Amino acid sequence: MDKKGIEVLKDKRISKSTAFNADEKEKLGLRGLLPYAISSQDKQKQRVIENIRRKESSIEKYIFLSALQDRNERLYYKTIMDYIPELLPIIYTPTVGEVCQQFSHIYRIDKGFYITPEDKGDIALLLDNWPEQDVRVIVVTDGSRILGLGDLGCNGMGIPIGKLSLYTAGGGIKPEYCLPVMLDMGTDNENLLEEIMYLGYPHKRLKGDEYDELIEEFITSVQEKFPKALIQFEDFLTPNAYKILNKYQGRVLCFNDDIQGTAAVALAGVYSALRITKQVFTDQKIMFLGAGSAATGIADLMVKALLKEGLSESEALLKLWFVDIQGLVVKTSTELMPHNKPYAHDHEPMGFIDAIKDIRPTILIGASGAKGVFNAEVIQLMSSINERPVIFALSNPTSNAECTAEEAYTLSKGKAVFASGSPFDPVTLDGKTYVPGQGNNVYIFPGVGLGAIAVEALQLPDSAFMIAATELARQIHQSDLDQGTVYPRLTNLRTISFEIAVSVANHLYELGLTRLEKPKNLRTYIKNMMYDPTY
Ligand code: NAD
Repeated sequence: MDKKGIEVLKDKRISKSTAFNADEKEKLGLRGLLPYAISSQDKQKQRVIENIRRKESSIEKYIFLSALQDRNERLYYKTIMDYIPELLPIIYTPTVGEVCQQFSHIYRIDKGFYITPEDKGDIALLLDNWPEQDVRVIVVTDGSRILGLGDLGCNGMGIPIGKLSLYTAGGGIKPEYCLPVMLDMGTDNENLLEEIMYLGYPHKRLKGDEYDELIEEFITSVQEKFPKALIQFEDFLTPNAYKILNKYQGRVLCFNDDIQGTAAVALAGVYSALRITKQVFTDQKIMFLGAGSAATGIADLMVKALLKEGLSESEALLKLWFVDIQGLVVKTSTELMPHNKPYAHDHEPMGFIDAIKDIRPTILIGASGAKGVFNAEVIQLMSSINERPVIFALSNPTSNAECTAEEAYTLSKGKAVFASGSPFDPVTLDGKTYVPGQGNNVYIFPGVGLGAIAVEALQLPDSAFMIAATELARQIHQSDLDQGTVYPRLTNLRTISFEIAVSVANHLYELGLTRLEKPKNLRTYIKNMMYDPTY
């Protein structure tokens, strides 16, 4: 039965609030329930943005937007899409980090799906409780390594919720297709376990076989209930992130954004940087600071890109060097994790500065979460070795960046090609303005996701991320490169995601990894799939 009266206004998917016209008010039984004046969606959007700008703290802005999402979904997405550069830092990093830290305190409306060890054996049944029948994208975390903030347990739910908002706003994936999941396996964060307000499963984390079994049950239950769904793993502790990805990548449609999404966005940034430095990729020597999931994921994709350019595997590996907390990662390093081993070269151990002097990298990529480690000495050294050093400080949030944009440009006297993980303002130096690019994964995952679900993909191989990186780099205009920016404007995110989706979809057809027969006009097919929140 069609909804009437207050039920219409309570339904976030159909409510237009003050935008219902006189006819609709009459037909839907809304007379008296709304003020007299009728606002256009644009006027409502204006009202929303005025309200947001009036709020002093980012977290208050987040709470306001989150409440709007629950009241009027189309207005929420319309506002985000039209103000993406301003609102991205609110609905995602850095604000979402603070949101997760305070999740149990600011919790208001139920969004998303929670699974705990007590649900073992029942996960498939539980999924029947989700109101949507055709889920196409699931973002799942176990909360064990939220951004650079560590184990936040169930409070990490802010991440899947935020990411899925971006799938819709950036990639045009319908909100009803999206399912945020918290695999709440407990937490080893003592503060949370002692906290009265904590909403999660109040026990130490599940480990070993029990952990693996719950993941397995989750994956098989999703396959059973939502067979077309893409599963995005997010913010798992690095060893588990790799273990899960390696186990399931060839079996189900899934990927890990921290590993593969980050890799694609960084590779695209490097491709663009080389357009500025006018060098070729195979001539580069790349040094990573931090040998965790982000940096290793980038390196793994770079190896594949170098192989495609004709290098042998051993030649490709020798282009890539890692420095972690113990210094240069070498064959004799102790406690090497499996994902580090291919990059542990035959070399004497040494510290970061000596490693730069000795290896003479052309590109330096920070993914360590260690604030300020790209200090004056590092930046000046890179500038003395290279005419145009490429320096990416990818650690989030802004306060954890290896260096600021200002430091990179000033200390290199404008020579550095800089990008960061979190946003920095433009910097003016000797009359020239440099606009730092933000290597945000949002450039990649919505487009890859859209492409994958459009063709009902069976799997997402690494090569799809190489395709996405190449397409992203293609979307950068010369005018952006002239300002030192290695990423395109966020205001073009829908177009960028669409182009990535088309390239990824074509690639998946070439590989025979699709369930859907190829539509006559793939571009039109994908365009028509994209959610439009306009009333
Ligand atoms: P991780 O915990 O898996 O890895 C971090 C690594 O850095 C660890 O191996 C740690 O030992 C090392 N490390 C810490 N301090 C160091 C120091 N002073 N010197 C050398 N190494 C040090 O985390 P991750 O998932 O790889 O993420 C790392 C950072 O990258 C985070 O800040 C995250 O926000 C950021 N990141 C950025 C993007 C992006 O820009 N698109 C994407 C993903 C992650």
